[in-house]
Amino acid sequence: MAHDSGIRLLPPELQNQIAAGEVVERPASVLKELMENALDAGATRIRVQIRDGGQSSVVISDNGSGIPAEQLELAVTRHATSKLETLEDLQTIRTFGFRGEALPSIASVCRFHLASSSGEDGVGAALELLHGRLLGRTEVAMPRGTRIEVSDLFANVPARLKFLKQPATETRKCTDIFVRMALANLQVDFELLIGDRQVHRFLAGQSLADRLRSIWPDGIMESVHDLQHTEGGLQICGLLGDPATAQARPDRILIYVNQRPVQDKTVLSAVREGYRGKILGREYPQAVIFLHLPLDEVDVNVHPAKAEVRFRDEGAVFRAVRRAVTQGLERTAPPSGDPSQPGQPVRYPDQSPEPAFPSPASRLMEQTPGHAFPWPLKFESSRSAERLFATPPVTDRAESRPTPLPGPEPAPPFRYLGQLARTYLIVLTNDEITIIDQHAAHERVLFHMLQTQGHKGERRPLLMALEIPLHPAHCSVLQDRWSELGRLGFGLELSSPQLLLVRAVPALLTPAAAKEFMEDVLLSKARSMEDLWSIMACRAALKAGEAIAADEALSLIEAWQKLPDREHCPHGRPIALRWGERELEKMFKRRT
Ligand code: ADP
Ligand code: MG
Repeated sequence: MAHDSGIRLLPPELQNQIAAGEVVERPASVLKELMENALDAGATRIRVQIRDGGQSSVVISDNGSGIPAEQLELAVTRHATSKLETLEDLQTIRTFGFRGEALPSIASVCRFHLASSSGEDGVGAALELLHGRLLGRTEVAMPRGTRIEVSDLFANVPARLKFLKQPATETRKCTDIFVRMALANLQVDFELLIGDRQVHRFLAGQSLADRLRSIWPDGIMESVHDLQHTEGGLQICGLLGDPATAQARPDRILIYVNQRPVQDKTVLSAVREGYRGKILGREYPQAVIFLHLPLDEVDVNVHPAKAEVRFRDEGAVFRAVRRAVTQGLERTAPPSGDPSQPGQPVRYPDQSPEPAFPSPASRLMEQTPGHAFPWPLKFESSRSAERLFATPPVTDRAESRPTPLPGPEPAPPFRYLGQLARTYLIVLTNDEITIIDQHAAHERVLFHMLQTQGHKGERRPLLMALEIPLHPAHCSVLQDRWSELGRLGFGLELSSPQLLLVRAVPALLTPAAAKEFMEDVLLSKARSMEDLWSIMACRAALKAGEAIAADEALSLIEAWQKLPDREHCPHGRPIALRWGERELEKMFKRRT
């Protein structure tokens, strides 16, 4: 039957309802879109409450930037977004949202309350819509942020309503998406209420492991492996369950691409490949994989709910993830502490391709405290201690000697025999042979120095500022650590919301190490000054694979021997292994 009215434009409500068919499948998809908006708005606290599986209501409030009163109507208009202006922007999208579809689509299939305030005056505006039609507008008293209430979802779309599962199932889907968002945004405080009962509360600054511990069964988190791998422009981090704890359920493999939770077959099969031979065919491991890659290497605009992405080079992603997993599983979890914390900057020798023989001049420049300028170098002050400690060890400076801490028994006199594999220092005392991990020992010494003296912020201005691209997720991390970074000696400047300029670095760090340090910090690895010191010590320390001269080794060993806590590095790995006469006798089977 032909219609006599011919071709006509659909009314906006109907357009939105059709779009909702793609974007809003169920309450969990509403929740995902609204949480993404809150994160895009820079919220540091997000509270969610759902009733009857989200069908009766989903309420979400955040303390983000809010929407200016005069733009409220625009926010619920199709293709209206504050996040995208040009097609080029779409290629380098840094926010979760960009389609400008979520709010109008959702509003067209429910009763929709939107209240928002963008200023500090405690006043906001609120809209109410029913099935996409504006019912009214009021002024409300509220702090800066946004509150959205979606009720009676799909009441006007019976076909959709019929497809919803039992409330318990919908609740589980909502909880899943809530948890997935919370795992990727450790700097944000998240709370979930089901009905009136609080079922999750994730405090800001928790580690990934902390959050997983409250959702995964006991036992899994006791033996996990840390995932840290960089390959080409690809950065992979996260956490791997031990093969021994693999289970028959596939839902504990969580994949994120540039912070977005996604389902991705390439990454999934690479993870399974990485575990191959270690788990049974019907078992699935637990894994949380954060893949970071340059924005132009991945297309996020291939799925209306943004649940899938497309990689430019799928093969490279597959190989990198498989390698990351294989290598991650080979590394045993550190014996103590929390191996899975992203807060622990674990470095492995294979990741630090440092020149084996840096020229003395370059080493000096890297480690001489630059009071005003890196030049001129003071060659006469090139004592080995300064090369290693940037400032002379405190023992040389009586006036600033820290209060001595009660230490273990004084170290015995020793003879330094040499360096093995450019990584281990071999030391002989009267009755023992000791092998010292040079990186771990140096790291411990620097950490102790920072802890007791503080870093006095000696800074080295850079002739050319380092440029560090920022993801919106970085902003709050940066904000939280900004003043501490300044105290450490960093000179930072935001040249735009997307670009951080580092104009000065702490004297202890080379520019390259400073960049790695900042990257660690942006990955939310630091939650306190102590964490910053630990990362700094790690980044500034000698690496495995670096040759050092005998006098440098001596001053390092001496400084290390004076430490009260000298057996483990700040991450809990051992610093020294020892064999005495008894152990040797046993090993040579002279004695049983
Ligand atoms: P998109 O996220 O793709 O831009 P949405 O329809 O989800 O589209 O949101 C439309 C606009 O409304 C956003 O671009 C943003 O400016 C604003 N907005 C939505 N939710 C929030 C929120 N929680 N806080 C601040 N602004 C918001
Ligand atoms: Mg959005």
